[in-house]
Amino acid sequence: MKDKFDRNINYLRISVTDRCNLRCIYCMPEEGISKLLPHSEILSYEEILKIVEIGVDLGITNIRITGGEPLLRKGIVSFIERLAKTEGIKDIGMTTNGILLKKFAKALYTAGLKRVNISLDSLDKDKFRTITRVGSIDEVLEGIEEADKVGLKPIKINVVVMRGINDDEIERFAFWSKEVEYQIRFIEFMPIGPNAWKRELFISKDEIKERIEKKVGRLIPVQVKKSGPAEYFMLEGAKGLLGFISPLTTHICVRCNRLRLTAEGKLRPCLFSDKELDLKKLLRSKASREQIRDMILRTIHLKPQGMSDSQPLRPMSTIGG
Ligand code: SAM
Ligand code: SF4
Repeated sequence: MKDKFDRNINYLRISVTDRCNLRCIYCMPEEGISKLLPHSEILSYEEILKIVEIGVDLGITNIRITGGEPLLRKGIVSFIERLAKTEGIKDIGMTTNGILLKKFAKALYTAGLKRVNISLDSLDKDKFRTITRVGSIDEVLEGIEEADKVGLKPIKINVVVMRGINDDEIERFAFWSKEVEYQIRFIEFMPIGPNAWKRELFISKDEIKERIEKKVGRLIPVQVKKSGPAEYFMLEGAKGLLGFISPLTTHICVRCNRLRLTAEGKLRPCLFSDKELDLKKLLRSKASREQIRDMILRTIHLKPQGMSDSQPLRPMSTIGG
């Protein structure tokens, strides 16, 4: 399905929970989200599957499962299995903090998950703890290894770069790409939700690249299929790739192919806008497939051409990134 700006919308990101086992300083307050959704307000797997089936009729082929932390939701493996069997779905990925990945990787792969993106903002044990407030890096590293071993490839590592917090590790991550076959992606810190974004913490893709080229080596451009909003490079002789996702300094919106479904059933046309349509209310009012289809279409038509200047208020943990 094409939107008003001729972009082909084939990708749905689904947040399956607003709960999380970490408290990343840029995403959640220390005490967690004050108003967690009651379970009855979270879309059931059946409801999500119904939305996906109708989405497929409109051209959705690719799904990403996210959260909160998706691996915290009970029944996630059998949900993935049902999703993978949905006719028309070609690709299912997941974005996770990796804490529970060691336990789930094999079962997820067997269920039909194709790949995982793992958030890892520091390679230093103490710094990782400072950023996530409660996390243990060893669990994440073991999760990454297990995911790699069972075949959830390519492994993508997401690093949100913040000045004065983890920017001193840019070079370390870059060196790591020489040793591992992962795609290590630096993400510009985005002003989303009511939390910790400050201009002083922001570092642009260009500065990150410059620092890598100065201290580590030349970045050689690489074409990657299904690169989404990322631009990829490699260091000479490296096993892995370095990616850059720069929503604030590059016009990535021209390639945007996605819709987002929040855990409470709101369909969002754009990460950077608080516009959302209430699919759950419609579903629970026993609406027809036609009416649900219409709401999905309306959301596609609401996709803006680019991002606006206003800061979306919904916390990232409830949108899913
Ligand atoms: N809990 C999972 C995780 O951390 O991977 C999935 C949900 S999390 C909201 C999805 C992604 O959004 C993570 O890679 C996280 O680092 C990223 N993220 C959260 N807040 C962000 C922000 N303000 N700017 C850039 N990325 C952000
Ligand atoms: Fe949880 Fe992911 Fe947000 Fe960190 S970024 S608090 S892991 S939802």
